[in-house]
Amino acid sequence: MNFLTCEIKPNSMMSLEVVVLGSSAAIPVKDRNLPSIALILDNGPDMILFDCGEDVQRRFIEAGLKFNRPMTILISHFHGDHVNGLPGLLFRFNLTDRTAPLTIIGPRNLFLYLFLHRLTVGLRAQYPITIIEIDHDNKKKLIYEGLDSEFPIDEIEIKENTILEAKNHVIKYTLVEHSILTFGYSFVEKPRNGKFFPEKALELGIPRNSIWKRLHEGKKIEFNDRVIDPEKEGIVGPKRPGRKITYSGDTAPCGSLIELGEGSDLLIHEATYTKELAHIAKEKKHSTTVDAATVAIKMNAKKLLLTHISSRYQDDPSVLLDEAKEVFPNSLLARDLMRIEIK
Ligand SMILES: [Zn+2]
Ligand SMILES: [Zn+2]
Repeated sequence: MNFLTCEIKPNSMMSLEVVVLGSSAAIPVKDRNLPSIALILDNGPDMILFDCGEDVQRRFIEAGLKFNRPMTILISHFHGDHVNGLPGLLFRFNLTDRTAPLTIIGPRNLFLYLFLHRLTVGLRAQYPITIIEIDHDNKKKLIYEGLDSEFPIDEIEIKENTILEAKNHVIKYTLVEHSILTFGYSFVEKPRNGKFFPEKALELGIPRNSIWKRLHEGKKIEFNDRVIDPEKEGIVGPKRPGRKITYSGDTAPCGSLIELGEGSDLLIHEATYTKELAHIAKEKKHSTTVDAATVAIKMNAKKLLLTHISSRYQDDPSVLLDEAKEVFPNSLLARDLMRIEIK
């Protein structure tokens, strides 16, 4: 045990930041790119991308985001505005000698979509790439490794809507209500360590070394022939709930999303139209500002980010935010390159 190199920062917080890379619906306008929202994790598998609209790579540059980092891309559905940035981004990864692993998750035919680019325009991946297709009807996920083989290497049953489990978080999905098969996703952080009280550890004579890390994790240790339970001894507080961020994809307001996102710290919900155009929203299976705000209330969300804004509001989108705030005051209107820190 090395007593000198222990560098725990007992109460450090993992930073979690949302960066809007595209907030437009269907067609891009001067200030809004097509849908894509990044979630940046300091401590885990570094970046999650909700959808991948055309030219997302340029927004990466403008936002100062690194490309060569472990990344999980979650595709909500196969309308072009949500997925056409994927081939370009992957081409870039190849040209720039990416080494970090990439996982792409989405509906069935995700592999086929990429494989056709492999066959027709020579898309390659020289870095570890995993493609996970959600077979919702059969409650299983199909896993492909690389872009060369057309056959999945594995099929795994999906339990409790969990599509991916990482060290510090899980990704859950649900079916939402759109004109084609569409998924909403939740990023759910695992419970975090409780607050650490170093003076209590010192009082018990436990030296500052790697044992502290175990204590901070709430694990019992043996010290001077006695078992020490850090929570009982007041060395560490109770585990703190992890943060949760839910992304709607394109959808009419729907119960399954409310269930998936219950208690979210941030709900990122499409709000394509104002309430005046509720009839169009209903017909096209999209949401209005009021729909999104009502979902936020029902979900007990703490904050709402309105996105997927129709090009008709490009000159003055303020009405969208005003309408949502009347229903759910803690609403924000997405704009490209906006950053939100989730505390
Ligand atoms: Zn869309
Ligand atoms: Zn759509």
